[in-house]
Amino acid sequence: MVTAEELAARAEVVNGSADLWALLAHLRASAAPIVQRMPIIPDQKALLTTDGGFCPEDGTALTFDPWNPTDHRCPECRKVWRGERHDWSWARYQHLWLAERAAHLATLAALGGPEDRSAAARARDILNAYAERYWRYPNRDNVLGPSRLFFSTYLESVWVCNYVAAATVLRASGQLDDATARAVNQVTEEAATVIGDYDESFSNRQTWNNAALTAVAVWFEDEELAQRVIEGDTGLIAHLVRGYGRDGMWYEGENYHLFALRGLLTGAGWARLAGVDFVADERLATRMRLALGASALTALPDFTFPARKDSRFGMSLAQPAYVELWEIGLARLGMRDTGNEMRDVAAWLHALYATPSAPRELSESYLHDAPIDRIPHPVSRISLGARCAPQQGTVCQSRVRAAWGRARASGPSAFDAARGERLLASRSRHWTVRHARPFLVSLDAGT
Ligand SMILES: [Zn+2]
Repeated sequence: MVTAEELAARAEVVNGSADLWALLAHLRASAAPIVQRMPIIPDQKALLTTDGGFCPEDGTALTFDPWNPTDHRCPECRKVWRGERHDWSWARYQHLWLAERAAHLATLAALGGPEDRSAAARARDILNAYAERYWRYPNRDNVLGPSRLFFSTYLESVWVCNYVAAATVLRASGQLDDATARAVNQVTEEAATVIGDYDESFSNRQTWNNAALTAVAVWFEDEELAQRVIEGDTGLIAHLVRGYGRDGMWYEGENYHLFALRGLLTGAGWARLAGVDFVADERLATRMRLALGASALTALPDFTFPARKDSRFGMSLAQPAYVELWEIGLARLGMRDTGNEMRDVAAWLHALYATPSAPRELSESYLHDAPIDRIPHPVSRISLGARCAPQQGTVCQSRVRAAWGRARASGPSAFDAARGERLLASRSRHWTVRHARPFLVSLDAGT
């Protein structure tokens, strides 16, 4: 979420940074198929069934391919499965992917050159397509709360964050026509009614509901709504202050920590535009720093997180969706980090970029790489999603060195299993310091 002035300033920074220019080129290349061809808007809402989306023979989750709504391939046995229950499952990711693409296209159009104007047109196509059919998706057959597009409210919230972000970036860059703006008004008002009907208290899902409603409040300049979802009893600030323990971990465990934190950073980005800057409040900034550092403290030697509660086993923390969290957090908090409290996060981020390749996983809040290539490959700063975009912030060489120095002494509990020695210590001595350049930070363009 940005203003027109910030967009213009960030476009300047992109021009002066090799990393950011490469990231923009990546966003342009990955947007090309969608600019060339209108993607498929599902006719149906997503439904949750016991067997939809899974291979009947080996139980493996079927590959999500945005361009194929009916043939669903199993990545394990390679068989292709058909049927409406698989289609309903596919629709969950497709709706999320489309809203994310709208934000992606809008970001490209706002930060790129005249050749990227067609991306804005396609983003508007997606926004308008949903305005035409949003009321056709029935608010029924749900699992966790009301929803039109999905079966649970939090998914509608993830979707809304991107939908409103796309419209906001288009508007800020002068590429939103009046008709599309009216269409967005209608969808957003109805979606806010659906989401606002269901308060999930201190569930990680409510963080996303709060983020979505904060986005809506900013879009409509609705101060009363903003105050309720930011400062209310179960609002964003309450989630930050009460949901994370003194160790910085979200109370529901590692898996939900990463999901809730993504929602919180998204919501905080919108809240800043509503006049509540979490980073400027020392109490909230401290909580955010602790939350950003918690995963490093509990990471296992192979950079996976512990499979506590209902977390999946063996999930790598070097997933792009997770790495973005620390990029965004470091950029936002690092800007005012006079006491170098963020140096552990900087060291952690560098360690993740140096980890061995891990298989990519599909995430409801990060579908930039769909369809996912199951062949492991390392995470890279220049291929993250549209949320990572330029800002004026820089991380100077001395600060990065200080971060590594501290990591050697007492840093995150990241050990190299193969060699049995501290990974940060052993590798940091040999890394090239690259971050005298502008740092990647969030454009706040959605999830
Ligand atoms: Zn199979």
